[in-house]
Amino acid sequence: MSDLLANLNPPQLSAVTLPPQHALILAGAGSGKTRVLTTRIAWLLSTGQVGPQGILAVTFTNKAAKEMQARLSAMLPVNTRAMWIGTFHGLCNRLLRAHHKEAGLPALFQILDSGDQQSAVKRLLKNLNVDDEKFPPRELCHFINAHKEQGIRAAQAEVYDDYTRRRVELYAEYEAQCQREGVVDFAELLLRTYELLTRNEPLRQHYQQRFRHILVDEFQDTNVLQYKWLKLLANYGADDGAKLFAVGDDDQSIYAFRGAEVGNMRDFEREFRVQSVIRLEQNYRSHGNILEAANAIIKHNRGRLGKNLWTDAGAGEPIRVFEGFSDLDEARFIVDECRELIRDGISRNQIALLYRSNAQSRVLEHQLFTAGIPYRVYGGLRFFERQEIKHALAYLRLIANPDDDTAFARVVNFPARGIGARSQENLQAAAHQANSSLYNAAASLTGKAGASVGAFVRLIEELRRDTASLPLSEMVEHVIDKSGLRQHYLGEKEGQERLDNLDELVNAAVNFVQEESGGDLAAREEAGDLAAFLTHASLEAGEHQALEGDEALQLMTVHAAKGLEFDIVFLSGLEQGLFPHENAAQEREGLEEERRLMYVAVTRARKRLYLSWAQTRMLHGQTRYCVASSFFDEIPEGLLRRINPVSKSAYEAPRASGGWGGGMGGGRPAAAPAAAGLPDGLRIGMNVQHAKFGFGVIVAAEGRGADARVQVNFGGAGMKWLALEYAKLTPA
Ligand code: ATP
Ligand code: MG
Repeated sequence: MSDLLANLNPPQLSAVTLPPQHALILAGAGSGKTRVLTTRIAWLLSTGQVGPQGILAVTFTNKAAKEMQARLSAMLPVNTRAMWIGTFHGLCNRLLRAHHKEAGLPALFQILDSGDQQSAVKRLLKNLNVDDEKFPPRELCHFINAHKEQGIRAAQAEVYDDYTRRRVELYAEYEAQCQREGVVDFAELLLRTYELLTRNEPLRQHYQQRFRHILVDEFQDTNVLQYKWLKLLANYGADDGAKLFAVGDDDQSIYAFRGAEVGNMRDFEREFRVQSVIRLEQNYRSHGNILEAANAIIKHNRGRLGKNLWTDAGAGEPIRVFEGFSDLDEARFIVDECRELIRDGISRNQIALLYRSNAQSRVLEHQLFTAGIPYRVYGGLRFFERQEIKHALAYLRLIANPDDDTAFARVVNFPARGIGARSQENLQAAAHQANSSLYNAAASLTGKAGASVGAFVRLIEELRRDTASLPLSEMVEHVIDKSGLRQHYLGEKEGQERLDNLDELVNAAVNFVQEESGGDLAAREEAGDLAAFLTHASLEAGEHQALEGDEALQLMTVHAAKGLEFDIVFLSGLEQGLFPHENAAQEREGLEEERRLMYVAVTRARKRLYLSWAQTRMLHGQTRYCVASSFFDEIPEGLLRRINPVSKSAYEAPRASGGWGGGMGGGRPAAAPAAAGLPDGLRIGMNVQHAKFGFGVIVAAEGRGADARVQVNFGGAGMKWLALEYAKLTPA
């Protein structure tokens, strides 16, 4: 018990040991909010104030939920399964699984991830003959989700013009389609749970009495509906409701674009008459220079609740800044550094490569792959989103729920069975008319198409029958074989990787069943292995990739990195338009949200931070010419160490740095001193000729071998950094 509380500073201790009451912990990054929240749960349990079943804790990611469960098990002997710890989505899923009947859902309801949702909307538009140029599916999804996140059903949506009227009608049609197919999207999970509890008094009372303490991490990013959901469960207004313990940081609010409301913090304080707002000001995560940079950046935002973070960890190393001449160059630099760090004994799990947008991961992945460094991508190109995996899952989903039209449409003709677009359209029309699922409508098709679709339906039925008594992993394997997927990819030229992924899906099923912890087990008991596995695939996409358990470099967007920490962080793509993002940079509010995102990124680093950008970047198939992010201007120059010289100082010799490694496993020179890296015949000050830029003079050089680059003043064509490997300079 005293062990539990050792290593807490005084404000942390007072937060952990507050008597039962509503509380708000408002504190900056790395000040121990999550630690306080976890320790409070342990303290409540170990002092006997509440049993495990009385705890509901909301985390931001599944990864965080797992970590919290693991910490709690390590702190005290407790059945973590009895506690409800998870994300809003995960918790709602658990509740809906347990009460699917009351919620009007089939036992094996499926979850649509955002990709599924879009294809469901596309299918809907097609059925209704709606022009998808006028109503782009993406936007329509956004419209629907935004309404759901406000708790607004189609029937209640406000209509202010014809266009909106039509969108609201489509929203209603979409609701009907989902209901018919027995599927729910992410936003629906929450709204459905909220409605269920509002409507069903005995159920509501049951949970209101069960949960005595509700603890919420990252409270600043809750949206309107999530806050209402919390209020409902905490029985707002009654004296005997659960105590709400919220921790958050207004400076890290990064989901306003998805409806999150920082205002929830103020509302919470007022509505729950919070007596204790506790502030934590000591940062235990980052070295001084990193923290100072973070503070300097966030200071540019207005209307902050105001916090001042300090650390006694010492200044540490300067922040390293690298300017690449292309995204490839930047990625090469990052991967080279990683290789050195790993060689120096840094764990791969402690190195994070962060970026603003998912698309940026490709070039990094490519370099890592080439270098043979294991890595894991969180979010983005995720295991469960790969084509072959989605195909296999679609078969499994049809076994679980034949009315799942999204799954049906995905694989009815994959592998090809001669069921053409025409037949599929006829089937859609028949289903629409009969108001039934595609599966059920199959019998009504006649002729050749009817025969092929009928064969498909029989295949699914066979699969269901033959796998009924198999353990999950064998079931998955059977489905991959008998559906024809394996055969199909065997015949494909580049099919091997896909086959490997399919095998990995079988492994994932094995791991899933073996896993003993937390909500998954509860879900498995409630819905069976298959449904639980399918839920897991939709909810936790990206968090369980092929390499789970292995040490791997951590790649993710800044959004996905929230709450996490790493010894070493590389933040790449710091260019105007990319970060801050062009969509947001125009207005102050947008820019401020980008700045909070930057603050989140910087504060993930414990010991070393790299910031990099590239002069040119391939994005969406086009080369963009870039300028450095304005966020660089907000960091005091004294905190930075430029790894390569900037154009400004072009005529100075590049900084040859000593003591580079700064205590992390011995140094090495950053940029090779100018002349050292130059191949024979080239030297600083020399006149050279370039095929495109003409005559110039070499003013600086760095790097060695394949990485050697020179800076050349081409007079009219300006100052350029060029990779020697490609530049083909000749002495002039
Ligand atoms: P974020 O805002 O990024 O979510 P946070 O406020 O939740 O950060 P934590 O992740 O809880 O911060 O803590 C940051 C780090 O500091 C963790 O490694 C944690 O174990 C450590 N830490 C927190 N409090 C203390 C303390 N009193 N003594 C030593 N280490 C601490
Ligand atoms: Mg945290």
